[in-house]
Order: sequence, then C-alpha cells, then structure tokens
Amino acid sequence: MPKAVPIPDTKLVEITLENEFLQVSLLNFGARLYRIIMPDKDGKQENILLSYDDYADVLTDQAFFGAIVGPVAGRIRGGRWADQQLEQNDGQNHIHGGSHGWASQYWSYDLFEKGVVFTLVDTISGYPGPITVTVRYELQGAELLMETAYTSDAQTIVNPTSHAYFNLGGATILTHELQLSSTAYLETDQANLPTGKVLALGCDLHQKTPLKDLLEHFPDGIDDTFLLEKACDVSLILSEATSGRKLTIVTDCPSVVLFSTTNFDAPFMINHQPMHAHFGLAIEPQFQPDIVHFPEWGTIELAAGQSRTTRTSYQFSLSKE
Ligand code: BGC
Repeated sequence: MPKAVPIPDTKLVEITLENEFLQVSLLNFGARLYRIIMPDKDGKQENILLSYDDYADVLTDQAFFGAIVGPVAGRIRGGRWADQQLEQNDGQNHIHGGSHGWASQYWSYDLFEKGVVFTLVDTISGYPGPITVTVRYELQGAELLMETAYTSDAQTIVNPTSHAYFNLGGATILTHELQLSSTAYLETDQANLPTGKVLALGCDLHQKTPLKDLLEHFPDGIDDTFLLEKACDVSLILSEATSGRKLTIVTDCPSVVLFSTTNFDAPFMINHQPMHAHFGLAIEPQFQPDIVHFPEWGTIELAAGQSRTTRTSYQFSLSKE
C-alpha cells in the first residue's frame, strides 16, 4: 500500500507509491507529481523530476512544477469563452486556470493498493461549474498510469494537463534526446497564443533528435504545441545516454506542449541547485491551447452532466548501450 505522510507545519500530505522499479511521490496541493526516483544504468537512484527542495516553495509555486493544471491549461485569448470572462492573469489573457486554478488547491485523496486517486470539487477557479475532477495515479511495474476524469454541473470548458518537468540525468536537458510522433506545431504570436496556423516541423522528430539540435529551430527556447499523430503507439520518447534512462509517453491527448525552460533562471532551489535555464523539460499532454477560439481543432466544452476522461502512461526504462 502507498504511504501518506503529513508534512509538519503545513496542510501538505506526501503520498509515496513504491515498487522494485520506481518510487513516486505526490502532494495533495495541486495533485502534483513531486518526485520520481529511478536507477540509472549503474544502479544509482536519482530523482528525475524537477522538485522544490523546500515544501514552502510548493505553496507559492508559480511555475506549476508537477502540478495538475486546470480547468484549462495554457492560454486563452482575452480570457474569453462564449459570454464568460475568465481571470486575466497573463496580461490581457488567461493562463493555467487562473490564480485559483487546480494547481493551487488542496485535493482530497484515497489510497488503493497500487496508487492514489485525488479528487477536487472546484467552485473557486471562476469557471462555470462546479467541476468535479479526479486524477488517478497507478504504479504498475515500471509504468505510471495517469487517468484524469471530470464532469461539471453547468456547461463549461475543461482541458487539464500534468505539468511535470523532467531531467533524466546530467546537468541540463541539452544532453537529452527526443522522439515525437508529430510533424506539425502551432504558430504563436508575441503573447505566445496560437495564431491558428499549423506549421510543418523543420526536422524529422520521428528520429531520435538531440534536444540541442531541436533548440536550433527554436532559438528563443521551446514553448510550443506539437500536434500528435492520431494512430501512433508511442507519443514521445525522452532519453539521456549518460544515465541510460528513457521515458516513453503514450497519451490519448491530441497534442503536447513542450517547455524547455530556456531563460528560466530563478532564485528558488530545485534539486539542490538554483533553478536555471534548460534544467528540465516540461511535457504537457493536452488539447491545443486556446482551442475555444479554433473550433476546427476540436472542442474542450463539456455540457452539464457530461464527463470526459483522458489517459497518459509514463513508462520508464534503461538502455545499457
Ligand atoms: C507555458 C509557458 C509558461 C510555463 C509556466 C507552460 O505551460 O507554455 O509559457 O511560462 O508553463 O507557467
């Protein structure tokens, strides 16, 4: 059974799932992934997520480390949907569910043999609702399964993501390689909102590509939405040769936002170092940002009483090559 340990002097509870392959820690604040500890090819156990050293920093987190972001992840132009005005917390726009979004609420939790189910009834984010959401994390061997299910009392919009930043080994992500089932990404404007144009990638990401090389196509850093091919078995593979660690992600979401933390220098301590550029790669499976203004891409609307579920699997392995 998982363990739930209260963190002294806070309302935080740390839940740990553990088996012979992995140790996964989660926090009830934002239903977030806090640490994932796995061996490298020589058996050295290390955390492969970016994690605040100080729990107090989790409570003031503005960068969504490991959090479930919602009700809607990413930006919404003008914070407008239908006749609703959502909080404008990113200039004129809305981002990541606003300042009372899911990442900064306490979730209740239930443990089961191989995992935990977090539940939140959201009445304070400012979205029509209440929206009831559960996130189920289950550890199966070297695989972490995440299932997000939600329903609402009123017609609303929901597009959550997990905002975990990964670093599989090494000082930065510049030693990592990426494979992605994608040939296209969304053009964005100065405010990092989609323009509506879909652009072809300038490189073949079906091939293992050094992140260093990919960053040459994104000189200001990667903070972009990649459209995932529908009939793919594997959505993304991130690997790092020195440690031998490999992360394979399979998601049923239509896109993934990748954020390379380029220029992200900050004074807080992450994994015993000040946060610095290229320290981690945020991998965020979701429907496309600002999709409410591009109906041709699909919909994140939820009618009253309707429910939706999305699933993402994280598979961890080692290559000894
Ligand atoms: C967004 C970035 C933002 C980061 C932290 C990412 O999902 O795409 O633009 O800086 O989250 O909020």
